[in-house]
Formats: sequence, structure tokens, C-alpha cells
Amino acid sequence: MASLPYTPSFDASFLDRGVDPCVDFYKFACGNWIRLNPIPPDQARWDVYAKLHTDNLRFLWGILEQASKPSPGRSPNEQKIGDYFSACMDETGIERAGAVPLEPELEAIAALQKVTELPPLLARLHLASQRGPLFEFTSSQDYADSNRVIAFAMAGGLGLPDRDYYVKTDAKSQETRAKYREHLVRMFQLLGDSRAKSNAEAQTVMDMETSLAKASLTRVEKRDPYKLFHKLSEGELTKLTSRFPWPAYWSALGIPAQTVTNVTEPRFFEEVERLLETHSIGDWKVYLRWHLARERSPFLSSAFVRANFDFYSKYLRGVAEMQPRWKRCVQYVDRDLGEALGQVFAEKTFSPETKARALAMTKEIEKAMETDLQQLSWMGPETKKQAQAKLHAIVNKIGYPDKWRDYSAVKIVRADFLGDVDRALIFESKRELNKIGKPLDRTEWEMTPPTVNAYYDPQMNDINFPAGVLEPPLFDPRMDDAPNYGNTGSTIGHELTHGFDDEGRQFDAHGNLKDWWTAKDAQQFEQRAACVVDQYAQYTVVDDIKINSKLTEGEDVADLGGTMLAYMAWKDATRGKDLKPAGGFSPDQRFFIGMAQWACGDERPESKRVNAITNPHSPLEDRVNGVVSNMPEFQRAFSCKAGQPMVRAQACRVW
Ligand SMILES: [Zn+2]
Repeated sequence: MASLPYTPSFDASFLDRGVDPCVDFYKFACGNWIRLNPIPPDQARWDVYAKLHTDNLRFLWGILEQASKPSPGRSPNEQKIGDYFSACMDETGIERAGAVPLEPELEAIAALQKVTELPPLLARLHLASQRGPLFEFTSSQDYADSNRVIAFAMAGGLGLPDRDYYVKTDAKSQETRAKYREHLVRMFQLLGDSRAKSNAEAQTVMDMETSLAKASLTRVEKRDPYKLFHKLSEGELTKLTSRFPWPAYWSALGIPAQTVTNVTEPRFFEEVERLLETHSIGDWKVYLRWHLARERSPFLSSAFVRANFDFYSKYLRGVAEMQPRWKRCVQYVDRDLGEALGQVFAEKTFSPETKARALAMTKEIEKAMETDLQQLSWMGPETKKQAQAKLHAIVNKIGYPDKWRDYSAVKIVRADFLGDVDRALIFESKRELNKIGKPLDRTEWEMTPPTVNAYYDPQMNDINFPAGVLEPPLFDPRMDDAPNYGNTGSTIGHELTHGFDDEGRQFDAHGNLKDWWTAKDAQQFEQRAACVVDQYAQYTVVDDIKINSKLTEGEDVADLGGTMLAYMAWKDATRGKDLKPAGGFSPDQRFFIGMAQWACGDERPESKRVNAITNPHSPLEDRVNGVVSNMPEFQRAFSCKAGQPMVRAQACRVW
């Protein structure tokens, strides 16, 4: 593909004109999109973002096909992304190898004699994985001093997507655990164990993971950064987990002994200590074999790939078909060598003009927030001063990093796929660990340039918009301001609002965890946020499952605040201009249709269930209807009347 396909950011053919916008605005704005775009068999969810993501993958596929031709003129980065992709596409070679690439680690696990030998092996497995067994160990900014990077030891070690899956007692949760156990049996058999032995092994894994799950914080609890902040000295860490020799672990990670480690969940590590005491080395071997197989199965022969797909995608998320190999391989390159690939993507798709326009819009929305803060009736002058300081300190990162990641240390071999994955993961783990004690690099990105998403980082106090999310139909330089402000403007406002949601508001302008609110203003905020929590708690995700609105609070507040800010900014940017109706819609109507049309999409019911537990975002229709039903600006634009569903009697307003 030479260029990306063009889809305009406002499309009247996606509307369902049979629906009254005041009754169900989402259906009005997206009904026909959903009809025209059924969920493809290889997707759990299909929406405007997923479709654009797939367009980007197709475009990257072309770049990778080109780079995989072994011409001598390739740059070092082209060699790496091209040969990695080529190794991944070599299905015959991968099939022939079967489980052989796992053998070195399986042998190391088999050779374990006693529990005290675990740390070095665990360190090796952690380096070569994204979410290794038992716990996670990495670097992050100190909550108390954002300029300082320290070690973080975090809860982990579960094979199901959340701790709730292990503790809930309803029929569906029990069914899921039974299916998970079947999956464990299948995987142990693939590793060569008998059915009887695999059954017993599955039970061991269930027992150990259930203990870990019970000692883990819930996702709602983890929204409180104070609950995750426990800096321990080496002595205190040793006292917490006396059966785990940390020096041996650190040495195998290749890092010095840590004088301070933030243990995000001390109770979880107490449980690790208890499991080290109560489980035999035989049990630990079983647990490690499972996690090794789980982590690596997507990169092994088809029997492993299929088993992994059958449980995690087909059963858990309702996906009918596996993604074609090229699609999976493009995503692995994006994951493992993302900035090498993303650099080419950004050069080919993201013009300086688009960057300038996105930055200008961001500044408009920041200006709207400044005005909004000045005018807020519920916040006192002291807190306002701090809020303005925080707003002014936010760094806008647009498109791609100013400084590209250097992959020269990663060796990529054309016919060694699992080796390539290993080396890339080890490179990334070490890159993270090597940050400990060094000056913080504020130019870094957590998303690659082709990513169709954006984020706010409370400790960096920055907002990040990859090139992938600033393309049509989300951001459309050919389109007028109304839908662009409605769509991308609302997203920019959303990310800004995250600095001031239930979680983000606890960090100050420097990204430090510090209370800058007067008690009265904090209480005022909580009261307003509670309105949103109560509102979304009434919405259904699927079947009888309601939104866990304590989990989605930050995103819901950001959705509402983001659209408010985008609307204010758009009004400001177009003041004095004579805006004309177009296609039968007023400028205000076009703003709101643009706002809704980022979210057009549908999702399989199984996937909705997973999201009800794990996703901090509300379902798409609620992210649109929940917002507009709080906005008199919307209700005026569509002449909605009191009592209609899109007009809430008690509108919520936080920012
Ligand atoms: Zn968000």
C-alpha cells in the first residue's frame, strides 16, 4: 500500500436518520456505520479506532515487505525490522522447530533443586518476557520525586486477565475457571506430559494463582497511587520476603543491589513469601513451566498458537478466527522494534503541517481549560493557582519522539524467530532497568508512532498523541473545524482532563504525588465526580453486568471534561466567523456528530464481559450518550426537550 486510505472525519452516510438524536444520540450518529461494518471474524471489537489500526497495519506490512528483501543497501534499522518480520513469517521453519526453542529454559526449570535457587532463573524469565511469572520488576519514577527513577516490584503472576476471575463465585466465573483449567491441561500435554499428570499440574497452577489473586489489589484499589507507594530499603525488602534472596535476583538481572525498591503491593509479596514456604520445588517447577509456555506460545508452532488462541481469544473474547499471520507479525515488530518501524511510518504519513495543526488545536484547548479554571465557581483561589500551574506545566508531545530509540544493541537473525523475540524483549527489559538512578529522560514515549491511541502521564505531566491517532477519520486536515474539534479536540481535552481526574489530580505540576488541594475544594471535586460515578453505574455493559463506575471514573470524567473543553475551544477559535450549515446540519450539530463518530463500533458480548472487569473505559455508546446527556450545549443544538433520554434531569459537571 503506497498510502493510507482516506475516510473523512464527518460522514453523514454513517447516520441512522430513523433514530431521534435526543433519544439515542449514539445510534443516530453511528447506526449505519455499525450496519456497514460488521465485526470481522478475527476481531473481538470493531470500531473506528480498530479499523484505522488495521489500515495502519496494512500500510506497515508494505514497509516491512520492502525491508525484508535482503538488499545490501538496507539501513541497520531496515535490516532489523525486515529480518525480524521475515523470521516471523517463516511459518514452515517455526512449525518444524515445534517446542524445541523452549528446551533450554525447560531444562533450566527441570534442574531446580530447591526454592532458594529460584531467583536467578526467575530473573532470566523476567528479562525475556513482558509479564513474567510471579511478579514484575522494573523501573519507574518515584511517586515522591518524579525526577528520580527507582526500582519497582509489582504484583503479577496470573494467567487470567484479572484477580477477580479467581475469586468471583457466580456461574460464569466458575465456567471460566473450568475452561482455564482445561486450557492448562492442554498446554501441559503440549509440553509432553501425560493427561493424568497434566490434570494434577493444572490444579497446582490454579491453587498457586488463586492465592496470588486473593492477595492482589483490585483494579479500583490500584487507582489510588498512595496504595501503591511503599518504598522499602534492602533490609526491609529482605524482611518482607526472607525466603527470596534478592541479591541473587538482582545480579542475574545485571543490576546492582537496590537500596530502595517501591513494593507496590506489600501484601502480595507477603503471600509470595508464604507460597515459597508452603509449596515444594516441584510445585514451583509446574508453575514456571506453565508461565514459560503461556508467554512464548504465540511465537511457537501452530499447536501452541492455536491452544493460546482457543482460550484467550476464542473462548474469552468470542473471536471466531485467528488473525492472518502477516497481521500478527506486523504487531510483533511494532511491539519489539516499534520506534524503528514507527520512524518510517511517521516520515511517510505525518506531515509537518498536520503536526502544526494538531499542536495549534492542543494550545486552543489548553487555553479553554485556563478559562474554565478561572470561571469555576466551586474551586477556591488557592487551589486554582495550583491547578493553573499544573496546566501550564503540561508538555505536549505530538506525532513521534524528538529522539529515536537506538536499537543497535539488538541482534536480529533472519531465521531465528523466538531468538529474535527473546533478544528484543531482553533489550527492552534492560533498557528499563538501566534507567534506575539515572537522570529521567522526558523525551520518551510509551506508545509507538503508528498507535491509534493517546495518553496522559501523571508523573511526566505530559500528553502524548502518536501520529497514528492524528489521521482521518479522527483528525482530518481536509475537513472544517467543527468535526475536528468534536472528534480529536475532545480527545485532546480528554487527555488534559486526566491531569485533573480522581487519579491525576493527586499529582502536582512537577508530577509528584502531593496534595495541592484545600480540603474544601477536594470535597467539592469528589462530590462532582460522584455524580458521574452514579450516572455510569446505571449503564449496562452486557447481560446483567453494569459498569463498574469506580473503575471507569477517571475515563468518564475525562470524556465529559474533554468534550466540554473542546466545545469551548472551538467556539473561541471560530468566534466572529460566519459558520454555515452543511449537509443539513448546523455547525453545532456537526461538532457533536464529529464527537460521536470517533466511537462508532461494536463488540462481541464475550469481549464486553472481559472489558467489564478489566477496561477502565466505559462501553462506546455510553462514552457518547453519557457525555451529551450532561451537556445543555448538545441539547440546544438538537432542540432536545426535558424528559428525553439525552437530557438528564440532574446534569453532572466536573470540569
Ligand atoms: Zn483516557
